[in-house]
Parts: sequence; structure tokens; C-alpha cells
Amino acid sequence: MADTGNLQSLAHSITAVASPFRSYLNELYDKYHPLNQGAVADYIPELALAKPEWFGICAVTVGGQSFEVGDCDQLFTIQSISKAFVYGLALEDHGRAYVNSKVSVEPTGEAFNSIALDENTNRPYNPMVNAGAIATADMIKGKSSTDRLKRILDMFQRYTGRELDINVPVFLSEKATGNRNRAMAYLMLNFGMVSERIEETLDLYFQQCSILVNARDLGMMAATLANGGVNPITKERAIDEHYVQDVISVMLTCGMYDYSGEWTYRVGIPAKSGVGGGITAVVPGKMGIGTFSPLLDAKGNSVRGIKVCEDLSKDFGLHLFNVAKAERNLEDWIESNNVTVDW
Ligand code: GLU
Repeated sequence: MADTGNLQSLAHSITAVASPFRSYLNELYDKYHPLNQGAVADYIPELALAKPEWFGICAVTVGGQSFEVGDCDQLFTIQSISKAFVYGLALEDHGRAYVNSKVSVEPTGEAFNSIALDENTNRPYNPMVNAGAIATADMIKGKSSTDRLKRILDMFQRYTGRELDINVPVFLSEKATGNRNRAMAYLMLNFGMVSERIEETLDLYFQQCSILVNARDLGMMAATLANGGVNPITKERAIDEHYVQDVISVMLTCGMYDYSGEWTYRVGIPAKSGVGGGITAVVPGKMGIGTFSPLLDAKGNSVRGIKVCEDLSKDFGLHLFNVAKAERNLEDWIESNNVTVDW
């Protein structure tokens, strides 16, 4: 990852400059920081250590401008957000036809951990529910379990532009308590949807969920997808451009747990959330948004994160199907940012 440090500090120096868009994000932060609704995930003790007041927002344009407010350095586990990106890697490894023969792309309207397979085809419904994500992890190629994990980490590092680590206590807890996921994996083995290396694949799935990221990483990952698969800062390609639309499509239809339909209706920005409190949201051709706040609603989505994305969508007309004039024009608000780069 040569030069990444310099590029990231360049991005940071840009964020330090006052701009209307940055002021807008500061206002969003002030508006929603007092919102104390929801609860921190506690299905494993490590996640319950998160502080309810943590709150970060980061927006990265496809041109590489980064705007951030709040706790954008605070690390947390990526959890289900990983599912969208690993799906992209599986598509690169096997192509659409094979991946689709093992995992459908149909929203379920059910919880992320439901034990349900398509009755006619025995496929898990989509790559964003646990069953589909485990089947997706099973497809990741590699000479060994270490090599498969390395390929996943390398892929995430192309998106974030920096080296990432795994939170080992979270991984071990997920593994120790993950019998429901284990049951689903064996059910899928019964139907020939996954290979026999069940424990290895489950480890890989628990490890991908335990990768440590921050809100800035989530902004950068979304901006990379928004930019056709190329990281806007490092200029490194993270995913074959042909598969970007597949990843973004399942984010739109299935990315926000069983709130995905309402999310698409109200916000209309393809996004994926995780129980660590993160949301990564892709505004195609424009920018990526990363939010972090660990207070979750009953469906597992970050309460403050949803509010921030709702406001951004409404104020700047970012809903994918919006044809009306928005109150503010994103390009104007960002272009009017007089960037003076501080080397
Ligand atoms: N690691 C979690 C699980 O498999 C995923 C939680 C999430 O939805 O973010 O249960």
C-alpha cells in the first residue's frame, strides 16, 4: 500500500478546510447527536462495549474530496456491511451465473438470521442475509483458509486504501456463539448449496464480520463503488467494473435488513448496514457516505445513521428516482468549497 499514507493525509488536509457542505454535515451532527434512541448490540459482550454517544459522518466524493465530522477515527467491527463487498469478490471469482445458482437476489422481508431457503431452488434468498452471506463466503477462492482470508482482507484494503485488522475477541465470540449460523450452513450443505468445508467457511464469515473499520473507511468504500469500483484517492481498482451494479443492486433491495423496502422508499440510496453501528451508502457517480453510531433500532440499523441519510437524500435530492428539483444542489455545495491544500 505504498503512498497511501500521503494520499490519506492529503484527504485529511482537504477536510480541514471550511466549506458549505462541511458546515451542513456539522449541523446534521449537532441535530442528531442528542438523539438517544435505540440500543447497542449485545448478542456478544464485545459489541456491548460500544459507547452510545459515538457518532461519525464521512462523505467522500468520486473526485476524492472528503468531508467528515465527529468520531471518524473510532474503530468498530464492519459486521454485515462486509456481505456486500464479499459478494463482489465472489462474482469476480466465479461470474454471475454460478454465483446466482447458489445465492438468489430476492429480498426476504425477514430478519437477517432467518433460517429460510427458497422452497423451489433451495438457494438462500440473497447475499445480505446470513445464509446467503455464508454461501457467498464459501465461494471465495484460495489455496488455504489463510489465503482465502488474505484475499478478503486485500479486497477490503483496496476499497479503504489502508491496512485493516480483525478484532480477534469479536471473531472468537461470533464463532463460539454462532450455532444458528452453523445450523444454516449445515442446512445449505444438505441441499448442495455450500461445500463441505463448513467450519472453515464459517470462520471466514465470522472473520469478515470482525474486520475493524471506521466511518471514514465506510465513506471511502461507498465512494469507490460510486466511482465505478476505483478508489477515488488511491486510484486503485477494488472490483471489476462489470460487477459494481450487482453489488449496488442488492444493497438497494436487501441492504438495510427488513427495513430495505421502506429505506428505498424514503431514502433511495443503495446502502448496507451492520450491527456494529455502521452504514455505507452509495450515491452512484457522485459520492459515498459512511456513518457510524452504535445505537440500533429493532431491525439492527443505526438510528442516527438512518436520520443522516434521510436528511442528505431529502436536502440534496439524492434519492435514485428523484426527478424533482432538490432544495440544494450537491455539486454546487461541494464545488463552492475553496480547497486550499495544506501540504
Ligand atoms: N456477525 C453477525 C451474525 O452473523 C452479523 C451481524 C449483522 O447483521 O451485522 O450474526
